[in-house]
Amino acid sequence: MDKKALLERESPFSYVCNQCSRCCYNKVIRLNPYEVARLADHLGIKSSEFIREYTEANGTVLKRVNTGACVFLTPKGCGVHSNRPLVCRLYPLGRHLSADGKERFSESTPHPQSAGVYGKEKTVSDYLEAQGTAPFIGAVDRYLDLLKRMAIALQRNTRKNGLKRQQVRKAALPFVKVSDDAPEWLDIDPVVSDYCEKNGLTPPKDPSEKMEIHIRAVEAWLQTL
Ligand code: SF4
Repeated sequence: MDKKALLERESPFSYVCNQCSRCCYNKVIRLNPYEVARLADHLGIKSSEFIREYTEANGTVLKRVNTGACVFLTPKGCGVHSNRPLVCRLYPLGRHLSADGKERFSESTPHPQSAGVYGKEKTVSDYLEAQGTAPFIGAVDRYLDLLKRMAIALQRNTRKNGLKRQQVRKAALPFVKVSDDAPEWLDIDPVVSDYCEKNGLTPPKDPSEKMEIHIRAVEAWLQTL
């Protein structure tokens, strides 16, 4: 199988995970605020505590322990399976969006001793559905769109108010670790609580509803720039 070929949703693809857990080592598992909300909810804690205890890079990457294993890997497999992030659901696929919004998928090179079995019996689409990716793909696309709008607004603001380039980059590109000072907007629970309090709303518990208010709160902030 050509591991470099890019796939589309209709492309033949199948993968059977045999739970060897080798893919849970030495991986950068990226997170967005929706995924943080789901994982924090899974553990019964707030996003601030989750970010502090279980993430690196301003809440955008899951911590690993000293063996290289993901912080949530247990002897029985993933300890947060029902709320695992998109990267884990997609594995061994990666998802790519071109500038014009075209979606493609690539296959990761498997661990040499992986027990996973590749095939072509089904399609990429079948795999995405079986892994419950839809709300996670919806969320990552919403946050990517928000980030683009943040970058544009902040660049405009830079010119207007003479902000330094580094300040803009830190705020607009939080998926790159530029500082230990986490941009406040990434911590979903306090942002949602604050917005709800100011607007007479009851803070939601559901992660999807939290995401909607979180994005609305950031959009309201962008309007003030
Ligand atoms: S969240 Fe679960 S599936 Fe993902 S790397 Fe960690 S242990 Fe593995």
